[in-house]
Amino acid sequence: MFPKILLLHFVDEELEDDPVKLKQFVMSKLEDIPNEMKSVVEKTQLDAILLSPLKYRRPWELLWGNISKGNVCVAGDALHPMTPELGQGGCAALEDGVVLARCIAEALLKPGGEETNGKIVDEEEEYRRIEIGLKIFAQKRRWRSIDLISTAYMVGYIQQNNGTIINFLRDNFLSRFLPGMLLRKGDFDCGKLKY
Ligand SMILES: Cc1cc2nc3c(=O)[nH]c(=O)nc-3n(C[C@H](O)[C@H](O)[C@H](O)COP(=O)(O)OP(=O)(O)OC[C@H]3O[C@@H](n4cnc5c(N)ncnc54)[C@H](O)[C@@H]3O)c2cc1C
Repeated sequence: MFPKILLLHFVDEELEDDPVKLKQFVMSKLEDIPNEMKSVVEKTQLDAILLSPLKYRRPWELLWGNISKGNVCVAGDALHPMTPELGQGGCAALEDGVVLARCIAEALLKPGGEETNGKIVDEEEEYRRIEIGLKIFAQKRRWRSIDLISTAYMVGYIQQNNGTIINFLRDNFLSRFLPGMLLRKGDFDCGKLKY
């Protein structure tokens, strides 16, 4: 079976529509890696090379942007698209899923007073409760999302920087702390599903 290559980084526009040049571009980045890995890329067929733009949301957009509106919300990559340095996009999407399910369940199952007797009886009430559940979801995920997006960006900036000062700081100082910091970002308890 031939592998697929997914390029996520920004490349020159002239490369975008030319798979031959794209493949050459990938090969040019593989100088120092083992031959076995190079041969995987060499054997990749041209139509299996995919180019996808790297999306990133500025953290401050999450400060004042809407995460939910009415009975609709964003979650996963739609909420916190981030650069790939942390490898946490999928994990954070799962966290969103757990928190979202809990918030909706809590909103829908809470006692509704005498007239509803704990059950949802009309659409309007259901809409209102979902809206509240989504607002709570947004509150709970806002800062976690900002934290992940900002950290991923900073780590990428430091790792890929070619400036003398950042290089010096990275190699002599930050390299001691960065790996631990990255691992700690994944160590997040989003709680359990109660229902
Ligand atoms: C190469 C690569 C490596 C990665 N490695 C890791 C890793 O090691 N660890 C990690 O945690 N994360 C990793 N990620 C990130 C992770 O894959 C994503 O963060 C995660 O998949 C986001 O999940 P999501 O459900 O939000 O979005 P997606 O997985 O993108 O799901 C969105 C779905 O919506 C569908 N869709 C889109 N538009 C419409 C529409 N109009 N109507 C109906 N359906 C639609 C899409 O087809 C897709 O199935 C990696 C990503 C890539 C690309």
